[in-house]
Amino acid sequence: MTKESDLSPPPRQAYSGSLIERAADKRNDEAALVGLAQSNRAGFYIIGGESIVLKRDGATLQPLFSPAEARACGGARETVFLGILDAAPLFGAGLDADAIAPLKRRDDLKLVDLRSIAVQGVVAAEHIPPLAEAKAILGWHARHRFCPNCGAPTKPAQGGWRRDCPACKAEHFPRTDPVVIMLAIAGERCVLGRSPRFPPTMWSCLAGFAEPGESIEEAVRREVREEVGIACDRVKYFASQPWPFPSSLMIGCHAQALTDKIVIDRNEIEDARWFDRAELQLMLAQKHPQGLSTPPPIAIAHHIIRDFVENGPRVLE
Ligand SMILES: [Zn+2]
Repeated sequence: MTKESDLSPPPRQAYSGSLIERAADKRNDEAALVGLAQSNRAGFYIIGGESIVLKRDGATLQPLFSPAEARACGGARETVFLGILDAAPLFGAGLDADAIAPLKRRDDLKLVDLRSIAVQGVVAAEHIPPLAEAKAILGWHARHRFCPNCGAPTKPAQGGWRRDCPACKAEHFPRTDPVVIMLAIAGERCVLGRSPRFPPTMWSCLAGFAEPGESIEEAVRREVREEVGIACDRVKYFASQPWPFPSSLMIGCHAQALTDKIVIDRNEIEDARWFDRAELQLMLAQKHPQGLSTPPPIAIAHHIIRDFVENGPRVLE
């Protein structure tokens, strides 16, 4: 049962596959970074909270601003050096809510959230990963203004890749929060669940944060057991995806289910049930008789499910 599905070639998942050279060696050279930010090749992604600022360019939307255009959007609270792409230094500029508000009234700009940008493809695909990078790190700055060690205000350092505490001298680094997202499989069937936040027809992989002191495999087994009462044995890593809402790394896995009975934790999910491969294939192809669907291809869940549809229980080998 290999590749008998009539699914088209898989589209790219969003946020990963960055073409940027992060050039971390330049982060500790403050004078060089100032020069790069002022060069006429420099490009700025401008972000305020969940809003990505785009400029109208005829019928299209462009996410990169020149240094002068960026200044005209107001002073950034933080500027982060993202890296270099085709000899152009790229930066993320983070605006406060009160700086973002007047931009909403400008006819030459449009503010769009990053999920919509990815789903609707409103900017060129090469911009999605650096936008994810910029959103995650600028969001970290916005939430880490004070030292978790002593409570004093902290200051950005290293091109925006560290915050230093002048009081206790602690150095704080950007966080990425690991989330396991998995498909529990028994033969030709697997378990999907529904969050109350989902559109009414959508079913997806189970997911949850890995906890301190846990391996990825242990987190997968615990989350499946907690959410649907199924015991799992073998866990096989599939792929990962940055998920900048606000700063997660989705770690995709397949897991071998040992038990059959589903016991739903209603605090976590709304519903869960077994699906067989044939039904999943209809869902991926958007041909399910009841209109049931999977997450869109921008999300790793789509690809985890698709791998099982195409390769069956061999995904656990
Ligand atoms: Zn401190």
